[in-house]
Amino acid sequence: MIDLHCHLDLYPDPKAIIERCRACNQFVLSVMTTPSSYRGTFALAPDDELIPTALGLHPQLAAERHRELKLFDELLPAVRWIGEIGLDGAPEHRQSWAVQLRVFQHILKSCSRAGGRLLSIHSRHAATEVLEELRKQANAGVAVMHWFSGTKTELNQAIEIDCWFSIGLPMLRSNKGRIIVSSLPRDRVLTETDGPFTQNEGRPSYPWDSRQTSLKLAELWNESEDTTNARLRENLSKLLSIA
Ligand code: MN
Repeated sequence: MIDLHCHLDLYPDPKAIIERCRACNQFVLSVMTTPSSYRGTFALAPDDELIPTALGLHPQLAAERHRELKLFDELLPAVRWIGEIGLDGAPEHRQSWAVQLRVFQHILKSCSRAGGRLLSIHSRHAATEVLEELRKQANAGVAVMHWFSGTKTELNQAIEIDCWFSIGLPMLRSNKGRIIVSSLPRDRVLTETDGPFTQNEGRPSYPWDSRQTSLKLAELWNESEDTTNARLRENLSKLLSIA
């Protein structure tokens, strides 16, 4: 099972979650919202190949935390995954747009200078702008669009610039989300939970909920669960080998 976007550090008892992930051989990309939480989050699962820690600065916190870009640059050389980063164009985050853009551009430039990274990207109400920045910094790395919710045109643009996509249950529950997922190249899709921000069965999502996501993907793709799981595993190895 694969969870390519999970905020492990935000669960009340991350160690217990990690233990269970290890017991079931679960892959979890542990993303974060601020560079200052990197060291603490990394210490939860140090040098664990199945639970890599990403370095991030969430667009919704850009205004409050942009001073941590210096720390971001200091930590970057030792980190392979970057996330959560991106832009958020929702009305409640519009007033921080200028600083969000500056932070995102800075991060992409730093990644490009460092030789490229794997990027888990937030693009809510801002897909066009995110894709534009990715195009400008083509050497920043491999972009994995997390919970993509753009238009058909934006989706085609993302596919065209070789973006990957991480898909969670909320996307598969909505009609719009299912249409997006059906249009994705199957060899660039991975599963995610975005836990604990998302809910499943009336409680926060856990990384192992990605099992339900792959089941739903199998239904949508009209193939067996085994075929879908094999495909997802193959996609993950391919993604890891690009970087
Ligand atoms: Mn997230």
